[in-house]
Amino acid sequence: MAENRYDAIVVGARCAGSPTAMLLARKGYKVLVVDRARFPSDTVSTHLLHPPGVAALRRWGLLDRLLATGCPPIDTYAVDFGPFTISGAPGTEKAPVAYGPRRTVLDKLLVDAASEAGAEVREGFTVDEVVLGDGRVTGVRGHGRDGGTVTEHARVVVGADGRHSLVARAVKPEQYHEKPQLLCGYYTYWSGLPMHGRFKTWIRPDRAFAAWPTNDDLTLVIGGWPFAELEANRGDVEGNYLKMLELAPEFADQVRAATREARFVGTAVPNWFRKPYGPGWALVGDAGYNKDFITAQGMHDAFRDAELCAAALDETFTGARSFEVAMGEYQSTRDQQVLPMYELTTELATLEPPPPEFQHLLAAIHGNQDAMDGFARVTAGATSPAEFFSEENAGRILAAAR
Ligand SMILES: Cc1cc2nc3c(=O)[nH]c(=O)nc-3n(C[C@H](O)[C@H](O)[C@H](O)COP(=O)(O)OP(=O)(O)OC[C@H]3O[C@@H](n4cnc5c(N)ncnc54)[C@H](O)[C@@H]3O)c2cc1C
Repeated sequence: MAENRYDAIVVGARCAGSPTAMLLARKGYKVLVVDRARFPSDTVSTHLLHPPGVAALRRWGLLDRLLATGCPPIDTYAVDFGPFTISGAPGTEKAPVAYGPRRTVLDKLLVDAASEAGAEVREGFTVDEVVLGDGRVTGVRGHGRDGGTVTEHARVVVGADGRHSLVARAVKPEQYHEKPQLLCGYYTYWSGLPMHGRFKTWIRPDRAFAAWPTNDDLTLVIGGWPFAELEANRGDVEGNYLKMLELAPEFADQVRAATREARFVGTAVPNWFRKPYGPGWALVGDAGYNKDFITAQGMHDAFRDAELCAAALDETFTGARSFEVAMGEYQSTRDQQVLPMYELTTELATLEPPPPEFQHLLAAIHGNQDAMDGFARVTAGATSPAEFFSEENAGRILAAAR
């Protein structure tokens, strides 16, 4: 068997890959992280980073770097349901605000942090195949921009290569809780559309759209319709997008007075969990758990995976626990933490009206500032929907409204 040059090879260097590489390198492991992209570069994703993601950047000593880019803080989340708006603070004491950094900014910052921690970063390197030996993954084979094929070996190959993961395709992990594509979303950037520190969402029949501030005094506006309308609307994305904004006439007026600064970008994604480990391999971020972007959870979920997976691999490498036990706990912790949000996300992504009892609860939340802050924290992924919508808490909110 070929000698391991690395403890870990991480494929993909964005929200999941670079933090995984950084955290392992900080523990003193020999890490190679590769990406076919070069940085800074953009990717198809909007980029609301909820307070739990901001808290991770602070834990890793990277928050000041984000602030230095001039990205404006977001201290209020407002969800406009038509008849009323629920507006609250999404943060906690430790992480009071959200940010909407451009991926060109955030991903570059993460790649640099991995490199500074001692990980070898190879940009412009495409992994073509996963190398197997003795029934396990032993490395990767790929090519740089010069075209020459290179093979590298490691104790573990971490697939942080997104929802089209080549690593996952090679190892064929068990896939569960699957749901199809539910909505398709389109976004672009506007100047002259100030948000005053607010992330705002509008929920309308068969439509949802949202706006928040990002770097360079720009505002991102994303909106979506049911996946079933993809084909019918694809010929005129701009027209359908602007027509959708008319469902909030005041906002539509503001957009009319603003200037569009970029082309439209759009996509639709399927929903699933994958078993995130096996002999010689692990998955983090979208490669292991993918869900609709309507609740914007993907980046902080990727951060959480990086921390859990790096800690489990450290235990494996030091011999503190077996790979099976440590990585099994990574999977169960991930699943337990995200499942209620996954259910909420995939329900919202249908764009169908919520059941009457849920509408009743939303009306009771409206106007009760504690409850509205609680709702904002759910939206932010800081409080579990299971906790907030528990019978006990819902009962308290309904009683207060009476
Ligand atoms: C339209 C849309 C809007 C979204 N909005 C938000 C939002 O507002 N907030 C939020 O938190 N999340 C959002 N998400 C989700 C978020 O984009 C993802 O969850 C997040 O990017 C996952 O990070 P990742 O590192 O796992 O994967 P990715 O960001 O997809 O990175 C994977 C990397 O792997 C590299 N790679 C892939 N294959 C190979 C290969 N064979 N060789 C070398 N490199 C390879 C790619 O080049 C890429 O750089 C959105 C997603 C979409 C689609």
